[in-house]
Amino acid sequence: MSSGTHYTIRPVSVGALTIGKSHLVFGVGYGEMIDSVVYMWYVEGAGRRVLVDTGCCGPEWSAKYHYPLRRTPDEEPAKALSNIGVAPTDIDTVVCTHLHWDHCYNHELFTNAKFYIQRTELQYAAAPHPMNCKAYESTTIGMTPPYIKTKFEVLDGDAELAPGLTAVFAPGHTPGMQGVAVDTTDGVYFIAGDNLPLYDNWAGNQIQKHIPGINFVNVEDYYRTFQLIERIADHILPGHDPKVMDKAVYP
Ligand SMILES: [Zn+2]
Repeated sequence: MSSGTHYTIRPVSVGALTIGKSHLVFGVGYGEMIDSVVYMWYVEGAGRRVLVDTGCCGPEWSAKYHYPLRRTPDEEPAKALSNIGVAPTDIDTVVCTHLHWDHCYNHELFTNAKFYIQRTELQYAAAPHPMNCKAYESTTIGMTPPYIKTKFEVLDGDAELAPGLTAVFAPGHTPGMQGVAVDTTDGVYFIAGDNLPLYDNWAGNQIQKHIPGINFVNVEDYYRTFQLIERIADHILPGHDPKVMDKAVYP
């Protein structure tokens, strides 16, 4: 049910990774290289200034440890925000969908924000499965996670952050993923993070109504989360799809 409080959502690009499509949509587009845009999501309304995810490292680090990253000067995180009239110090709340490296760099910019993470994610990130260690830049492989100095508000499941703005526990892509359900003048938009990297994941194909990405620990959880998203969302915003930028503001 609508809270009566309405927010707007602006996708803010901090660059584009070059990545195989089959990495984002399981079993689809092997060998096809695509742009995976790294977004911060700026949510504003009812006097609140919220950021969902905080982007990735710079191109040099990204190319060395992960994927090639194309970033224009306008896509430097602080500049990208100032381009839409927002200073990092304006942000009162940061919601971390999960702790993969391309979602949780740059926390030090947001000096006035409370940072929200699911307990399950924080615990998993501390000692991930070997397959997932690099994505977390985990200490278990001798790296230093980008969020290491962050003081988190730790959530155990769904949490209303403000009227009409809810962090939703949505395990799938990682064990402790959360999305954000946002009331707007056009119903509920769900910021899905990497549970749905592209619109193609949600559109599905002849066999699967919705298609997971290649990263998961428990695929049953992932499919339950698809059902959850069907129940609560009128619209989805995928985590890395360049088509998101077709609109500057949602709704
Ligand atoms: Zn991820």
